[in-house]
Amino acid sequence: MDILQGIGVSSGVAVAKALVISDDQLRIGSQSIDPSETEAERQKLLLAISASSEEIRDLRDQTSRRVGRETGAIFDFHIGLLNDPELIRTFVGLINNNHFSAEYAVYRALRDYGKIFTDHADAYFRDRIKDIYDIERRLLSKLTGAERLRIGELAEPVVLVASDLTPSQTASLDKTMVRGIAVESGGKTSHTAIIANSLGIPAVVGVEGIIREVRTGDTIIVNGHEGRVIVDPDAQTIAENRFLEQRQIRHTTELDRLRDQPARTKDGVDITLLGNIEFPHEVESALTKGAMGIGLYRTEFLYLGSDKPPTEDDHYAAYAEVIRRLAGKPVIIRTLDLGADKYSAHMNLPVEANPFLGCRSIRLCLASQDMFKVQLRAILRASVLGDVRLMFPMISSMLELRQAKYVLKDTMEDLDEEGIPYNRYLRVGMMVEVPSTALLPKTYLRETDFLSIGSNDLIQYTLAVDRGNQRVASLFTGAHPAVIHLIRRVQRAGKSEVKNVSLCGEMGGDPDFTMLLLGLGLRTLSITPNNIPEIKQLIREITLKQAEKVARKALKMEHAQLTLNFLHDEMRRYHPDFYRADVSTLAHHSEEA
Ligand code: PEP
Ligand code: MG
Repeated sequence: MDILQGIGVSSGVAVAKALVISDDQLRIGSQSIDPSETEAERQKLLLAISASSEEIRDLRDQTSRRVGRETGAIFDFHIGLLNDPELIRTFVGLINNNHFSAEYAVYRALRDYGKIFTDHADAYFRDRIKDIYDIERRLLSKLTGAERLRIGELAEPVVLVASDLTPSQTASLDKTMVRGIAVESGGKTSHTAIIANSLGIPAVVGVEGIIREVRTGDTIIVNGHEGRVIVDPDAQTIAENRFLEQRQIRHTTELDRLRDQPARTKDGVDITLLGNIEFPHEVESALTKGAMGIGLYRTEFLYLGSDKPPTEDDHYAAYAEVIRRLAGKPVIIRTLDLGADKYSAHMNLPVEANPFLGCRSIRLCLASQDMFKVQLRAILRASVLGDVRLMFPMISSMLELRQAKYVLKDTMEDLDEEGIPYNRYLRVGMMVEVPSTALLPKTYLRETDFLSIGSNDLIQYTLAVDRGNQRVASLFTGAHPAVIHLIRRVQRAGKSEVKNVSLCGEMGGDPDFTMLLLGLGLRTLSITPNNIPEIKQLIREITLKQAEKVARKALKMEHAQLTLNFLHDEMRRYHPDFYRADVSTLAHHSEEA
């Protein structure tokens, strides 16, 4: 049994036989034709182009129907390229002048064309190389008559394993047969990730060495929640994961019925569940899962996905897309939270001994105001497009908050001078992630419109536990009495100042903490969209009275382990069906078995 680690991009567990897709059919050797055959080859080529275009149009329409117009639009690029007169002239030139066969002309021309993309400085264009290969494969299969592996027509359930899937392979996936995906390349923004996520197929990308390790027919487990792939699992691991897989399928179907139901407790208290996103395309799945808006848009991913800093227009385009997709629902755009674990190579930041305590996040923005203003301009410009709110991360002192607000005001004045419209009543809030602000929430509430508790960092800084360090992972918990008391303090201050206090760290998406958080008085949680249905179901099963009782008891407990056990037992009491495909749950299940 081998365990390979990658990046989980679509959650869920899948156990099935592997189907390894190789790229072998791609190499075409040099082939020349007799000059008398050029017209016939040219005709063959044009027919292949028109048949391929037809096929792609169908695929685009099908994909748009199944997963949405944005995803279907991937294929507009294919259609455009395939019918590009310049490219067709190049194909035909190679047939007429060099006497290449149509296959070889296509192969040569597209390989040369592909080089422009491979060498491009912009990661977006480099990523387009996969589209070029996709077009090449389609045209070649038409020209050679070779059947391409049709993953839309599989006879038995599989986990697809590949170096990467082409966009059309991913889009033609049949969810009933393709139970999971594990690919070697790709990151969170790859097509594979986008489409797998919108189809709800468990997927892990960036699994180094998977092509070497796995043969077609091997049993393999994909855990998209943990970003883990298990090759040749033993019988017990298979049984455990099949249990999770089945339970999750049943559960997801049941939960999806809740999408349009309110997150309302049994005694009629409404809770606002918002989604956390890193990329504009995630808005779609957040809404599908029932998010009432986006409570945390982590914009630093604009920097992390590319090797040069985004321009004001790049920022603006991303924000405008999020706002358009939300169609009137609110979005809280968090300003850059770079540094520490979210490090961008092109920023050339000096090495620090303690980066989490160093020049990160708002501190970095205040130290690089030109960069900060680029983002603020874009947020302000986008603020007229919908319900936009702005939030500063990692504020640790009043001076920092005032400085950040000052830079914002300065940026507004620049826009005024240039006659560029923006919403001058834009609501401005900050994250409470450092004990120094959690201890004095009223002070900060008086100068902001709202607060959002970033429990991930608040736990890290309160408990002195590095959130990314495996060795101290067991010490990292929101159940620590100090964390619970800080959350209560911030929430109470919000109540007395009549301003909204929400929570947007991972705690909010963990059912163990739902009763506690509601009981402490929180009414808005912004969480990973995939967790929304589960949390909503739990909310609908409890009363606020019960939650308040749980919170009262938890506030009296002396240590985290005691509290955690208590919270877990209470949650299971009201929500016996709880399911989560992660290791901790597996442990609970095996204890119960
Ligand atoms: C947090 O710290 O809780 C938070 C939501 O921000 P991030 O996880 O991006 O640091
Ligand atoms: Mg944080």
